[in-house]
Amino acid sequence: MSADDSRRHYIDGDWTTGTGDETFTSENPATGEALASFHRGTEDDVDRALAAAEDAYDEWRSLSYIDRAEYLWDIYHELRDRHEELGEIVTMECGKEISEGLADVTEAWHMVEWAAGNARHPHGDVVPSEIASKDAYMRRKPKGVVGCITPWNFPVAIPFWHLAVTLVEGNTVVWKPAEQTPWCAHIIAEMFEDSGIPDGVFNLVQGYGDAGNAIVEDDRVETVLFTGSAEVGHQIASKVGGEPGKIAACEMGGKNAVVITEEADLDIAVHSAVMSSFKTTGQRCVSSERLIVHEDVYDEFKERFVDVAEDIAVGDPLAEDTFMGPLIESDQVEKFNRYNDLAREEGANVLVDRADLGAEEIPDGHEDSAAEAADSERSGSFENGHWVGPFVYEIDYDEDLRCINEEVFGPHVALLEYSGDFDRALEMHNSVDYGLAGAIISEDYRQINQFRDEAEIGLAYGNLPCIGAEVHLPFGGVKKSGNGLPSGREVIEAVTERTAWTLNNSKDIE
Ligand code: NAD
Repeated sequence: MSADDSRRHYIDGDWTTGTGDETFTSENPATGEALASFHRGTEDDVDRALAAAEDAYDEWRSLSYIDRAEYLWDIYHELRDRHEELGEIVTMECGKEISEGLADVTEAWHMVEWAAGNARHPHGDVVPSEIASKDAYMRRKPKGVVGCITPWNFPVAIPFWHLAVTLVEGNTVVWKPAEQTPWCAHIIAEMFEDSGIPDGVFNLVQGYGDAGNAIVEDDRVETVLFTGSAEVGHQIASKVGGEPGKIAACEMGGKNAVVITEEADLDIAVHSAVMSSFKTTGQRCVSSERLIVHEDVYDEFKERFVDVAEDIAVGDPLAEDTFMGPLIESDQVEKFNRYNDLAREEGANVLVDRADLGAEEIPDGHEDSAAEAADSERSGSFENGHWVGPFVYEIDYDEDLRCINEEVFGPHVALLEYSGDFDRALEMHNSVDYGLAGAIISEDYRQINQFRDEAEIGLAYGNLPCIGAEVHLPFGGVKKSGNGLPSGREVIEAVTERTAWTLNNSKDIE
């Protein structure tokens, strides 16, 4: 692929190669094949995009909510019309199995529907003044230029968590998507172009962390919405933290757990644990890498969970009967193996070790898709894919063990046995620095309620897998996992300013 063939940034309503010479390719993690090439954004490209966003702001903010939402409704329809094509591209670029690739797109249009629908009842509060002759209410105003920086693992849904509400509220945006999933980002930009949104309101700069950093450090950016790793999120939060009026809403990783009590229905427990630990090959921010299980049900649960993990279908993500696709990239495979070794060093008793799954074990089982035929030549070989299977172990609990404290982001799962009452399970659950998500499996409503109230997490599930989101609910964590909510209704807080307005209706002069 030559630089001429490379796909461009979308800045100020134009597709542009930008100022840099470098290109990069997006790769299929199942095969290692190059899917498409992209221009790599520079600080100058970010500068141009921010200038365009700033210029477009006054006109955009002066439109009504309804008029702004009209562009989003066009995108909503395009997401639905291109569902299958885009779902397959999600799967080819980030390796998640096809039902999840399609679900990524569905979640995106749910978010757009919710944000555009809200244009019919903009958020604000009417509150009585303390004084009878006065009226008071709270008005929201857009912040201005918003920078959006997104991860690869939900390459369509998460961008729309950031973009949809932000635009409907009257801000303009510069978006830097993950370097692993630029093709999905390109298609989203095509949708914005097709919607006819005014030039400069939506800008896409493709590239790496340096382009993201240029957004973060620029004074024209009033709010940074970031979803990604704790490492990068904390860097961003500390850079922005010192600047008055500027906000960084960062949603980051977790070391999540499913707690299975002595009162659990074990069918639900096994289902919840399997879904929580292995969906998206353990590469969801809410994936569970810890299973905290009461001694009374430990042996039975272990046997059943291990049986499923031994047999779970790892394979071609485009095949319908695949449960787990590959990891995203070779660095991630190395990290996964490093943590598996660390667990051994820290005393793990390994129960399932399919970490070294060879390409020859991957069955090929799908028809070539329309998107593949159009945009890439399928190599048909999984030799260069980033394949791993589940790694499951049990380990005596010690709160200082690194393998049960640090996010691996893969199918690396520790079984931790507890005895005694539910307080002990909660203590183990809350001992990590992260606080994103967790689930309790129990038929005892007191335990369930205690978990809801005392688990130090932002997303708590009862008798459900530790996955899933509804677009109108807050989505994010506490402790090291988050400092704001670049998703759900809470995005409104990050991308608007409040004015408390008070009007004197009497003739009294105050
Ligand atoms: P990442 O932090 O490596 O990258 C995220 C984005 O930040 C990318 O666009 C990247 O290019 C950019 N970036 C990298 N360095 C930067 C810098 N110095 N300044 C500005 N931008 C920079 O994360 P990832 O590997 O893409 O995603 C996986 C991580 O995301 C996991 O930790 C996962 O738990 C987390 N995640 C969290 C949520 C959530 O809602 N809490 C959702 C999905 C993923």
